[in-house]
Amino acid sequence: MNSIADNICAVRKRIAEVAADCGRGEDSVQLLAVSKTRSPDELRDAYAAGQCAFGENYLQEALDKIEALADLDIEWHFIGPIQSNKTRAIAGHFDWVHSVDRAKVARRLSEQRPGGLAPLNICLQVNISAEPSKSGCLPDEVEALAREVATLPNIRLRGLMAIPAASEDPEEQRRPLAAMRELLRQLQQEHPGLDTLSMGMSADMEAAICEGATQVRIGTALFGPRDYGAKTPVGTAT
Ligand SMILES: *Cc1c(COP(=O)(O)O)cnc(C)c1O
Repeated sequence: MNSIADNICAVRKRIAEVAADCGRGEDSVQLLAVSKTRSPDELRDAYAAGQCAFGENYLQEALDKIEALADLDIEWHFIGPIQSNKTRAIAGHFDWVHSVDRAKVARRLSEQRPGGLAPLNICLQVNISAEPSKSGCLPDEVEALAREVATLPNIRLRGLMAIPAASEDPEEQRRPLAAMRELLRQLQQEHPGLDTLSMGMSADMEAAICEGATQVRIGTALFGPRDYGAKTPVGTAT
C-alpha cells in the first residue's frame, strides 16, 4: 500500500489536473483530509506531507485528536451531523463547520463562539438528492436559512455543502453537483461574499471539481479504506 504522503501527493496532482481540464485555476480547489477513524499518528504523517486542513465527523473523537495534535497548526473542520447540545464544543474548537442545516444550530454556534476567536466559518448542508435518511436542509429551504444565518455576529456564512446520493455513473454524479453549483449562484445574488462549495469525496471528486467545488473532502483516497469495526476511540484506555 502507498504511504499517506504518496497518496496526498497523488490526490493533489489529480485535483490540479482536473481543475486545469475544466478551465479552473490550480489553486481554486482546497483539499480537506477527512480523518474520521484515523489515529493521531496518521494525521501527523499527513501533516508532515503538507496537509493542514482536516475534517472530522464525530465530536468526541475529534476533540481527542485536537488535544493530541495541539502542537500542530491544523485547520479543523467539523463535517458530521450536529446535535444541538454539542454546539458549544464545536464552536470552541473548530475553524469551519460544513454541516449546519437549521437556524437553531447556527444561532447556538454564534452565541457560543468564544470571544477571542475569529468568526466560525459556516457552510449550509443541503440534502440535494432529497434522501429521507440524510441530514441537510432541502434545496427550497436554503434561501431562508441563509438569510437568517447571515445576520449572526460570530459566524461567517461561506457557502454550501452536500453529500449527493452515491452513483458510479459520471452523468448521474454530475446532476446533483450541478444543482449545488446553481443553488450557490442564486444565493450569491443576495450574499456576494459566499465563496465556498464543499462537495466531492473519493468517488466523485472529479465530477465535483468540474461542477465548481472549492473544497473536496477526501478520506479513503488519502488514508485507505476505513475499518469502523476495529476502531478504538482515541484516548480510550484499552
Ligand atoms: C467520510 C466523509 C467524507 C470522505 O469520504 P471518502 O469517500 O472516504 O473520501 C467526506 N465527507 C463527509 C461528510 C464524510 O462523512
